[in-house]
Amino acid sequence: MKAPIEHLLEIVEKQVANLKVPVVDLIAVQTKDPFKILVATILSARTKDETTAKAADRLFKLAPDQHNLANLTEERIAKLIYPVGFYRNKAKFLTRLPHALAGFNNTVPDTIEELITLPGVGRKTANLVVSVAFQKPAICVDTHVHRIMNIWGYVKTQTPLQTEMALRKKLPEKYWIKVNSLLVAYGQGICRPVSPHCDRCALSDVCPQIGVTPRRIPRKTKKGKKNAQTFISWNVNGIRAMEKKGFVDIVQDLNADIIAIQETKAHPDQLSDALLHIPGYTSYWHSAEKKGYSGVAIYSRTSPVAVSTGLHNPDLDMEGRVQTLEFQDFFFINIYFPNSGHGLKRLEYKLNFNRAVQEHATVLAKKKAVVICGDYNVAHKAIDLKNPESNQTNPGFTPEERQWMDGFTEAGFLDTFRMFNKDPGHYTWWSYRFNARARDIGWRIDYFCVDKNSHSRVANASILKDVMGSDHCPVQLDFFVDKINS
Ligand code: SF4
Repeated sequence: MKAPIEHLLEIVEKQVANLKVPVVDLIAVQTKDPFKILVATILSARTKDETTAKAADRLFKLAPDQHNLANLTEERIAKLIYPVGFYRNKAKFLTRLPHALAGFNNTVPDTIEELITLPGVGRKTANLVVSVAFQKPAICVDTHVHRIMNIWGYVKTQTPLQTEMALRKKLPEKYWIKVNSLLVAYGQGICRPVSPHCDRCALSDVCPQIGVTPRRIPRKTKKGKKNAQTFISWNVNGIRAMEKKGFVDIVQDLNADIIAIQETKAHPDQLSDALLHIPGYTSYWHSAEKKGYSGVAIYSRTSPVAVSTGLHNPDLDMEGRVQTLEFQDFFFINIYFPNSGHGLKRLEYKLNFNRAVQEHATVLAKKKAVVICGDYNVAHKAIDLKNPESNQTNPGFTPEERQWMDGFTEAGFLDTFRMFNKDPGHYTWWSYRFNARARDIGWRIDYFCVDKNSHSRVANASILKDVMGSDHCPVQLDFFVDKINS
């Protein structure tokens, strides 16, 4: 780190003075009530501040204290706090909270050890309540504190708990209470998880930007000039599960022109209005015949001139894996490639599918630019996965699958991420087992490819590894577009 921590936090403090105060601090300032601060903190986990503030407001109108909360049923609480993340679990915790507080003489305890015995209160929540409600030294390490401290190189840690322990050893105590609100405000406003605004960050001269892909400055659209649009591709591993993890908020945060998702595992009639109609987007769905399996969808800000699904092959199309949206000057293809399966039982099916995809893309590329994104379910080269040696015969890294990808790229479909980054250690999927994501034992199997004639239209390509919720993270392409559909 080039600058002392005091210097960095002083600059942050000045910059956040004009930013929004995190919701829990706001409630603390407004009420100074430990019960409300505790409840708001429980509600705020994995939820946007605006959503937390509205949910807390609705709940506190009926339950300003634990006695009134005890009169509400779990179902009623769930309705009041919806759509905060994990609202059903949080409703369960809140139903049990009055009884748990009775064990502390109906007051909110002020130590971390006591607080973590309450339902729904983990270490992060306990630290926040101790520091915000009681102004006692505690370090609340949430995703922003963990992330930014690592970006600065002040700590080198894998988990928020490790960060908390490291900060307890080295962060001057005068910053313990306020570091959370400073870095949450900074993380939400400037050093955002997705494409941080390094271009307008007062720390850009001194920040080492460890592991960061800075935001590209959007180009202004002028008549006749090219305009870079942002495209995202993300295997969400079940859209209904992702909704509970804040998918709609994440989409708004990603702020992309097109968001393509794979493995939706749902038919549109199983989805909420909130998912089908995200403000600012029109959504297009293609589902597998088999319920709860495979499936793709696209959210687009601009209307395509045509929409089609599949590869003109009933055997390959029944699994809901391909969508093609035609825009004025490019085709956008969203694909969930099959997995070659346990014992490679579906390898042949997958290779047939892959050949049909290449044929489809080749035909379209003769007409106009083609962007092909999705979960390709293959790590192309040895640098695209952590352990190439031990995976030579495993699905996603077999010679046959890699040879297809060789042929695909040799046919002129460019792997856009590799136009900007040739280094190993960049992954888009991590197994849920063995704590693989925290240990960064991953695979790069999600790609944005473009036809070779569109090489100069690629403005940037990146991996958004900090966006959580699925076992994959999103990948991004910034692509120059001549004419915008309306
Ligand atoms: S320079 Fe970029 S990465 Fe560093 S703190 Fe500022 S926004 Fe974050």
